[in-house]
Amino acid sequence: TEVVYLITAGEVIDSLASVVRELVENSLDAGATRIVISLWPQQWRIRVADNGCGLSLEDLQKAATAHSTSKIHSSEDLWKIKSLGFRGEALHSLTTLADLEIFSRSTHSTEGWRVMYGNNGEVTQVDVAAIAPGTVVTVANLFANCPGRRQGLPPTAQQLKSVQGIIQQIALCHPHVTYQVWQNDREWFTIYPAPTVGKLIPQILTQVRQGDLEEINLPVPHPQSSTITNSSLKVVIGLPDRCHRHRPDWVKVAINGRIINSPELEQTILSAFHRTLPRDRYPVCFLHLLISPDQINWNRNPAKTEIYLHELTYWQEQITQAINQALRLSET
Ligand code: ADP
Ligand code: MG
Repeated sequence: TEVVYLITAGEVIDSLASVVRELVENSLDAGATRIVISLWPQQWRIRVADNGCGLSLEDLQKAATAHSTSKIHSSEDLWKIKSLGFRGEALHSLTTLADLEIFSRSTHSTEGWRVMYGNNGEVTQVDVAAIAPGTVVTVANLFANCPGRRQGLPPTAQQLKSVQGIIQQIALCHPHVTYQVWQNDREWFTIYPAPTVGKLIPQILTQVRQGDLEEINLPVPHPQSSTITNSSLKVVIGLPDRCHRHRPDWVKVAINGRIINSPELEQTILSAFHRTLPRDRYPVCFLHLLISPDQINWNRNPAKTEIYLHELTYWQEQITQAINQALRLSET
């Protein structure tokens, strides 16, 4: 209960895109290398299939109960989180807002299962299912019981754009995975796996070619307040003479596997490029900080896109140095 108390329960599910984000993050936490996302927006139905580690029948039975997570066991763990999910909130929230069905077969098991959940996360039906190892989660009739939510959402085309945006953001942080996306039973787009984010970016930002980017990976010492010492900074910059933007819409910051909104860090990046670009131009820059979870407090908002970073100025200095180094490399 102490853990539950520490985790501020919040509304995680407020759109198609947030369902996709939660399910795909679960697939990544399960170690998936191939994720197939299918959308039927008119039916408010979303399916995410993965080749991850799967769930045992025992885990399936409790997966959607309130605060059920396999990832945190004590309040100590909250400061050591390496997985994307940790609140045990997504599946439970989904059962209260939609119909939830999970097919899963654990990699350790010869048998798979299909489990249906009632609207408080309780199991309503269990069947044996012949499936490959991995998990298929289907969410149907999303927000059927809260028409106000549906009405509050933008038109379908715009919602799909957000879904695409979310998948691209996730792919930038997890480039080793194939993301195949279907819409109304037709293939919509696929993001192919790449060995590094720099090699993935041209699939997403199609005006840019791989040769227009400089990618560096720097080990960064942790500040003294941290007990864990190895952290690193991945920076991909667009060469200022070859790619820049009219708006600061391609300055992206990720921390530990998730793109976040950080006006402070975005400003740090913009300042670092200041001398290299004309006044009305903005850089292409993707920055991924991999740091000890004890440096981060994710509890700023339920979607985990805003955080409190301890030692902010320290990280800002490291980022400035990394970008300067990438810029120097790109000149040689
Ligand atoms: P959280 O991700 O915060 O732990 P969720 O409600 O998203 O909580 O998921 C609950 C639990 O269900 C997870 O901790 C995990 O053990 C299991 N789970 C969910 N999706 C998958 C998946 N695709 N593959 C394997 N396990 C999963
Ligand atoms: Mg989760």
